[in-house]
Amino acid sequence: MLVDTTTTVWTDCLEIIKQHVEEQEFNTWFKPIEPVRTDGNVLTIQVPSQFFYEWLEDHYVPVLKKAVHTVMGVEGRLEYSVVVDSGNKQNPPVTVNLPNGNGLKKTTQGQNGNAHTEYSPFAYKALDPRTVNSRLNPSYIFENFVEGDCNRLARSAGVAVAKKPGTTSFNPLMLYGGVGVGKTHLVQAIGNEIKKNMPEKIVLYVDQNDFTNQFLNALQNLKMQEFQNFYLQVDLLILDDVQFLAGREKTQEMFFNIFNQLHQSGKQIIMTSDCPPRDLKGFQERLLSRFKWGLTADLQEPDFETKLAIINNKMQSDGIEIPTEVAEYLAYSVDTNLRDMEGVLNSLLFHATLLKKDIDLDLAKEVLKNIIKEIQSDVSVDYIQKTVADYFKVDTEQLKGKVKKREIVIPRQTAMYFCKRYTQLTLALIGENFGGRDHSTVIHALESVEDMMKVDSNFKNSMDELTKKFKSRMSA
Ligand code: ADP
Ligand code: MG
Repeated sequence: MLVDTTTTVWTDCLEIIKQHVEEQEFNTWFKPIEPVRTDGNVLTIQVPSQFFYEWLEDHYVPVLKKAVHTVMGVEGRLEYSVVVDSGNKQNPPVTVNLPNGNGLKKTTQGQNGNAHTEYSPFAYKALDPRTVNSRLNPSYIFENFVEGDCNRLARSAGVAVAKKPGTTSFNPLMLYGGVGVGKTHLVQAIGNEIKKNMPEKIVLYVDQNDFTNQFLNALQNLKMQEFQNFYLQVDLLILDDVQFLAGREKTQEMFFNIFNQLHQSGKQIIMTSDCPPRDLKGFQERLLSRFKWGLTADLQEPDFETKLAIINNKMQSDGIEIPTEVAEYLAYSVDTNLRDMEGVLNSLLFHATLLKKDIDLDLAKEVLKNIIKEIQSDVSVDYIQKTVADYFKVDTEQLKGKVKKREIVIPRQTAMYFCKRYTQLTLALIGENFGGRDHSTVIHALESVEDMMKVDSNFKNSMDELTKKFKSRMSA
């Protein structure tokens, strides 16, 4: 019975709406609506999303009102049931009802030019650029971002955007690159620069956690409008590590809306990701294509000179002198990423300032040894040396010693070979772990091992057996 009334009421409403909107609008915004129930003078309709609801409220209040009043009388009211999660076989859809009674009155200008008051569940708070927390780290600035071949394009694009946010063709600016190449530093430098030179601009840095959590929180507490209002007032939006939005459809949809509206109103958007947009998985195609509108620039692993400059820069800003040979040693040895480098430098600083030790090559080596150990997998240098020594029935210490007899040289070279394969050590550090040999000795060892495997099938068998041992250790 009830459903029948509801269906009839809504069908009548649709008839009226049809006369007032274009056919395409009707199909887009009214066809998908499903009538849910009538309760006294309240008709509840279900809409597919929050965005849909807001769109209706922004664009079709007069026509909806006209329809409801004509069909149900002037007391007639509309409520929405908004699908916030369409669910699946196991989970039924989740909906929220709007308005929810905690709302505020909002005055809008009707189509006929008369102001009329509508019931709106959301408050609109204007942000004050002086008090907004931009979530920027003030120490990430251009002045201490070292320029090198590895980051030149990204850096100059960043400088251009910082000068004229929103008005260059670099919008959005999409920076990508591996771990620790300086993405976060660079985008925050842009943010800090804009804040400094244009204090009236609202700058906001968010990482994926911030955005997702705020979004989910808003979703649960029916504060979507507030969430959106907040973001739409931002002049520079920095979203760090967008790859984490992969597979989060609802969050992506919300970001898509915010992105479009900001972009349309000439606001600047900057994003970073760990791979180029074309390789991002789990993203809606329409969002990916947006990412490519502006400029996409990559940051590469820093080369030796850039690493050296970063080391000197950091130590100087902390007021520490670091001997050139130490800086060079570090730039050469730490080849995992710059975050590891930071760990090494901080540890050196700690030794120098708190333990009052001089920073020299020995200290650097000691620090590096400890830190590199942590970075390593289960198959450590020690383990490799011991396993290989046992296999060839020699003494581990002999691998590090000076003896040049073939019975020792072959196990030594074999162990070096496996160190290269299974640890993240650089050639220089491998040499270091074999009695302070230099990297060219290690290169020679690797070549000898490869040659022997080609010509000596017994040796090849030994290598296969050892490989098995290391592999099983790794998967254990
Ligand atoms: P990502 O976000 O790409 O993973 P980060 O921006 O967090 O990398 O950089 C890791 C560390 O390396 C930070 O301490 C950062 O300050 C430093 N760093 C990276 N690139 C540079 C650079 N070009 N100049 C100075 N420091 C850098
Ligand atoms: Mg980062």
